[in-house]
Amino acid sequence: MDGQSATDRLVAGFNRINEAGQGILSVFIVRPDDFPLLLAEAETGRAEAEGLIIGLVNNLRQITEAAPRNPVLCLCCPRPIRDPYRITFAFMAPDLPSREAIGMAICRRCAKGAGLEARVIKAIKTHLLPDCRKLDITDMRGGRA
Ligand SMILES: [Zn+2]
Repeated sequence: MDGQSATDRLVAGFNRINEAGQGILSVFIVRPDDFPLLLAEAETGRAEAEGLIIGLVNNLRQITEAAPRNPVLCLCCPRPIRDPYRITFAFMAPDLPSREAIGMAICRRCAKGAGLEARVIKAIKTHLLPDCRKLDITDMRGGRA
């Protein structure tokens, strides 16, 4: 290991992605039930689905390979996540075509219930990007303010 904690790596990755997106980021929430659809879309060559599959594999590997004393933590609570089975992930990517995204695991308890996207954004704001705010994009053809 390079001595950097998982949190340090996450914050560094966030800063890199935030810079690439010039402060405008997209959040994707991927639940276990979404995996088959993502696989099907990746098979058709949809780049966004391929990227999310790669991100899922990398994040699952981080959970299973984490040292017992340095487990992956849930973004929202943050409890240690040691079992990758049926974990939900949130991916944050620059709001432009990009091959890079940051994946964050959400424990089964936190993934339950309504308002997950709002809780994920609140956790990102609390722990990682205090200045962020949510933009609702109502017209995908439109420009950016
Ligand atoms: Zn949690």
